Amino acid sequence: MDISATTLQMDAQKSAEEEPPGKHVTGNQVEEPHSKTTANGRKQLFPQVPDANWNDWKWQFRNRITTIDELEKLIPLSAKEQTQLRIVVDKYPLSVTPHYLSLIDTQNPDDAIRKQALPSFHELGLAGMGVEDPLDERGDSVVPGLVHRYPDRVLMVLTNLCAVLCRHCTRKREWRQGGWVRTAAEIEAMLDYIRCNRSVRDIIISGGDPLTLSTSRLEKVISGLRQIEHVEIIRIGTRFPVVLPQRIDDELCTMLSKYGPIWVNTHFNNVREITPESAQACDRLLRAGVPVNNQSVLLRGVNDTVEEHTKLCQGLLRIKVRPYYLYECDEVQGTEHFRTTVETGIRIIEGMRGHTSGLAIPTFVVDLPQGGGKIPVQPNYALMHTEESLIFRNYEYRLFRYRNPGAPRRPKNGHKNGRRARVSPNQEVNRPLEYNAVQGEGDENRSLLRS
Ligand code: SF4
Repeated sequence: MDISATTLQMDAQKSAEEEPPGKHVTGNQVEEPHSKTTANGRKQLFPQVPDANWNDWKWQFRNRITTIDELEKLIPLSAKEQTQLRIVVDKYPLSVTPHYLSLIDTQNPDDAIRKQALPSFHELGLAGMGVEDPLDERGDSVVPGLVHRYPDRVLMVLTNLCAVLCRHCTRKREWRQGGWVRTAAEIEAMLDYIRCNRSVRDIIISGGDPLTLSTSRLEKVISGLRQIEHVEIIRIGTRFPVVLPQRIDDELCTMLSKYGPIWVNTHFNNVREITPESAQACDRLLRAGVPVNNQSVLLRGVNDTVEEHTKLCQGLLRIKVRPYYLYECDEVQGTEHFRTTVETGIRIIEGMRGHTSGLAIPTFVVDLPQGGGKIPVQPNYALMHTEESLIFRNYEYRLFRYRNPGAPRRPKNGHKNGRRARVSPNQEVNRPLEYNAVQGEGDENRSLLRS
């Protein structure tokens, strides 16, 4: 196989014109620890609150800011903003913990934490776009609160309560139904379904946020699951390590440590959410034998650049949290202002790959509408593919030939007319390469074609 001079020239020209997306990322994006920011925010917004209260998750939960009247005493809001936000919270309520509020830079209207925590008029302005339940979770519900979409795992939605109502939430539709927690009878119906379905080996406990339940109530669910022989893994989806890290206390960790393997999937979106408190929460979980993964959502103005995402993921590794998924923001009504193009996510992954450890790079996924499931979307590095070999480009846009092991050998100078290369379906990111007649195979397994 050969690549024509024209194609190589095109590559060289493109290479000269464009630098790979991550080229400006150098080594570790070391961030200053945020202890100062957290402490300053607390001092500025909640100077009277003693440590005993501040470090008590129940105090934090009880003292969530839920009205515009409370908010405007803490964060500067113009009269117009106040009027607009009162209209917004009528449809999409407000809830933010003192801890999370203290991370906001109150002088910056474009602050990444503010965007996630505080309402915006765009939630209504663009409300015509998107749908309430883009993933069709209702359609895949087998009993109330139990979603069975993939063969070996189910999602248990235990409550619609959350400590912070994240403005980009996929389950925003649930916010208007008042606070609810599944009853004992509903939970028993879920357990029954799982008992009867031996293919289910993996349970995701979610919400809302399941850590809004008391530890004893949560233990009843987890111990019920652990009595089912074919349940292997329990995962808990929670944003508490980020928005109310005080919740990860000894009582919770001791309980979780009895029922492993339990994994926690949490949800950091910006490096400034990594605080001494959140680091300690993740450390406590790890010491209780609970690995912590992160699922971030790609959000405009929060984490939609290579630099921001690299800082976030490197920060997560420093607190021993594995970046797991980067989600394209779902097509949810009231979140359109957060959504970016799919290409933005691909470029972020492309800009990180090769420039930082693979351990720091999440899988970018699009959760398909109508329950189609998660699809990984990656930059395409295999530019051409025939039975005998592949042409890869690396993170620096250098091209390499790679012999496909086990493929039938072609006679020297052999020629197979009419064979088509499999061209990348992702042609916007990797421009299409012209396919040329296959020529004699070289001896090397890997040849550098262009540097
Ligand atoms: S914690 Fe999760 S479920 Fe709750 S509002 Fe935030 S994104 Fe939605």
